[in-house]
Amino acid sequence: MPVRVVVLGAGFGGLELTTVLSEEFGKDIQVVLIDKSDAFIFGFSKLDVMFGRQLPDAVRHPYRDVLKPGVRFVQTTVRSIDPVARRTVTDAGTFDADILVVALGADLDPAATPGLTEGGQEFYTVAGAFALRELLPTFEGGPAIVGVCGKSFKCPPAPSETALLLHDFLTDRGRRAANSISLVMPFGTPIPPSPDTSQAILKTFAERGITFVKDQLVKSLDPARKVAVLSDGAEMPYSLFLGIPVHRVPQVVVDSGLAAHPLDWVPVNKQTLATKFPGVYAIGDVNGVGTPKAGVFAEGSAKIVAAAIVAQIKSGTPPEPYKGQGSCYVEFGHNQVGRVDVDFLSGPKPTGTFQEPSAALVAEKAHFGRSRIARWFER
Ligand SMILES: Cc1cc2nc3c(=O)[nH]c(=O)nc-3n(C[C@H](O)[C@H](O)[C@H](O)COP(=O)(O)OP(=O)(O)OC[C@H]3O[C@@H](n4cnc5c(N)ncnc54)[C@H](O)[C@@H]3O)c2cc1C
Repeated sequence: MPVRVVVLGAGFGGLELTTVLSEEFGKDIQVVLIDKSDAFIFGFSKLDVMFGRQLPDAVRHPYRDVLKPGVRFVQTTVRSIDPVARRTVTDAGTFDADILVVALGADLDPAATPGLTEGGQEFYTVAGAFALRELLPTFEGGPAIVGVCGKSFKCPPAPSETALLLHDFLTDRGRRAANSISLVMPFGTPIPPSPDTSQAILKTFAERGITFVKDQLVKSLDPARKVAVLSDGAEMPYSLFLGIPVHRVPQVVVDSGLAAHPLDWVPVNKQTLATKFPGVYAIGDVNGVGTPKAGVFAEGSAKIVAAAIVAQIKSGTPPEPYKGQGSCYVEFGHNQVGRVDVDFLSGPKPTGTFQEPSAALVAEKAHFGRSRIARWFER
């Protein structure tokens, strides 16, 4: 009997894991990849669509194109997970696994911030980002705030990128003079592990008149008075509010006992990504390994778990411990992209090195996306 691997979630982590297993075993493994969506969309594509740089249809990569030997994609919603039995119940039936990999990402909860759904916008969900494509061109003027609403959020550079891309968007339409742009973040600097990257972003903010409000969260919006209320009680007026909603562990994961609380990410062994349940791993945004919530880290953790599964099946040597390393591209506006290489787990504290924005990095980022789509979706 081939080993049965069930992968919950076909995002960055799930797609990479199934690709490695298919490459390694072909039809000699039984992988079921489950996702409720019909298509994969890169996080950074949300910014491209929202600022009119891409059409919505151009950034959707349908899962029907996943035709990897040994892998069956099932589009359905996961309703319950039993990590002891390694059994998953979905709308399409029950799936039993020898090895279960939870890669369900982070859920977004705009309703957790009072006033956000009624009085503001958010750009972290697909629906929110795509709606902004229509709404942003109608924004005439006034204070614009990019505001983080919860402590733990995906892609720490994304709020800074959004402020810089909004600057370009309004400048190109001759409307920048009628606006102010502020970014509210719960960190002291934009990218805490990399002082060089933070300094470069803050310098660019200063050049472009963007205000950085540090060490604050947006706790609520008052839509009637059009003010955002920060964690220290200060109020900021807004005409346009672009929010990063509170992130939560998917409820189905909390209900399974894999996570203790909606704000406590799944505990895993930092070196192996194994949960406390034998044969059950948690990769990507859903785990609490201590790396940022970003696709590159989901991919890195997927590679480690895939290597562990290969070693288990072939009775080979287990992989090196997970190091929590990854490179993030940072949009600086003015058609420039920088890069930060971060290392979260291999030293005593996280470190990051910065590459200055350049046209070469624009091309490198495009290649990064294209190469993943080719690898995950082409046979
Ligand atoms: C605006 C923005 C910009 C970003 N830019 C970057 C970037 O430049 N670089 C980078 O590395 N990262 C970036 N990210 C972060 C990146 O998108 C995520 O960190 C990454 O996708 C996490 O991968 P994952 O596999 O853990 O989860 P995801 O990719 O979120 O995948 C989880 C999957 O689980 C599915 N799912 C959830 N619940 C269920 C259920 N109950 N039943 C069935 N399926 C379910 C979802 O449909 C989803 O497909 C960005 C994110 C945003 C929002």
